[in-house]
Amino acid sequence: MTLSAAEIVTQLSSLVGANAVIGEPGRMTTYLSEPRKRFTTGAAAIVTPGSVAEVQAVLRWANANDVGIIPQGGNTGLVGGQVPRRGDEVILSLARLDKIRGIDTASGTMTVESGVILSKAHDAAEAEGVILPLWLASQGSARIGGVLSTNAGGVNVLAYGNARDLTMGIEAVLADGRLYQGLNSLKKDNTGYDLKNLLVGAEGTLGIITAATLKVFPKPEDYETAIVSLRDLDCALGFFDLLRSRARRRLSAYEIVPQLGLDLQLKHGMLDRDPTPGPSPGMRWWKSLASPKAPPTPLFAPLKQPSAKA
Ligand SMILES: Cc1cc2nc3c(=O)[nH]c(=O)nc-3n(C[C@H](O)[C@H](O)[C@H](O)COP(=O)(O)OP(=O)(O)OC[C@H]3O[C@@H](n4cnc5c(N)ncnc54)[C@H](O)[C@@H]3O)c2cc1C
Repeated sequence: MTLSAAEIVTQLSSLVGANAVIGEPGRMTTYLSEPRKRFTTGAAAIVTPGSVAEVQAVLRWANANDVGIIPQGGNTGLVGGQVPRRGDEVILSLARLDKIRGIDTASGTMTVESGVILSKAHDAAEAEGVILPLWLASQGSARIGGVLSTNAGGVNVLAYGNARDLTMGIEAVLADGRLYQGLNSLKKDNTGYDLKNLLVGAEGTLGIITAATLKVFPKPEDYETAIVSLRDLDCALGFFDLLRSRARRRLSAYEIVPQLGLDLQLKHGMLDRDPTPGPSPGMRWWKSLASPKAPPTPLFAPLKQPSAKA
């Protein structure tokens, strides 16, 4: 039997409390509207569990009642995976699972819940003298569970890899409510199947990530950034080779900024002036050596972020 939206709200409220369930369409807007506004439907309800046990209870109930569940983190994803398709599903927001469970500088790991906003995880790591080197433009809103579920990359992939490379272990709730406990800080773990790698990048299709153990690294002592005008792609590849051979693992980012991108930023006031020495015949390039933070260059700093959800 298919439950009505009103029944869904009532039954969810009995599981997690009425304050953790939204049933009025007017209060759902921030959860339903994704950044590109390409996918717009309704939802039967929004539920915001406050513990792993509550996530389990919701999934057990959804499985028994054939209700679709859409996990949502910071709602910054650009392909609509975090919003419903039909409109009769329940959005399960992980926003309240936002504890830093621990940072172990000796093992080079931190364990965080999936609702922690990425930039808060950065701050917590830096307070302990280490870095979590996963930096992307949506870091002020994106949450750990979403970042892992999309296997996000960002500007430091060259040096540190993407989200998958930074993940040591995962805790997740499976569709029937069972808990997969795979948190792990042992680097030389050669036991069994690598289930965490199935969950990373799965966009919530295999389970809901509730926490993860991530790699952290010693904070670099210094960094250098530069914007370089180069003639063409061949020249850029040659320059990349040269930098990599000189700087080796200290080269953390090397990004193309095509003329079009620069022109758009100038046109829309995101840059005060052209940072290169003059008109370039081709493209302009930016590099960073072991930057301890998202680089402060004005080329990227003014990018507007989607606002964080409560
Ligand atoms: C301005 C901007 C810049 C970006 N730059 C980059 C970039 O440089 N590199 C890059 O790789 N990506 C980039 N992204 C995309 C980035 O991958 C996503 O923004 C981010 O990873 C999603 O995190 P979120 O918490 O917002 O997840 P959401 O958008 O809420 O969800 C994304 C997906 O993950 C699922 N999901 C969310 N939480 C969980 C969970 N706990 N368990 C299971 N599934 C879950 C959702 O169902 C959905 O399928 C950018 C996005 C924006 C808006």
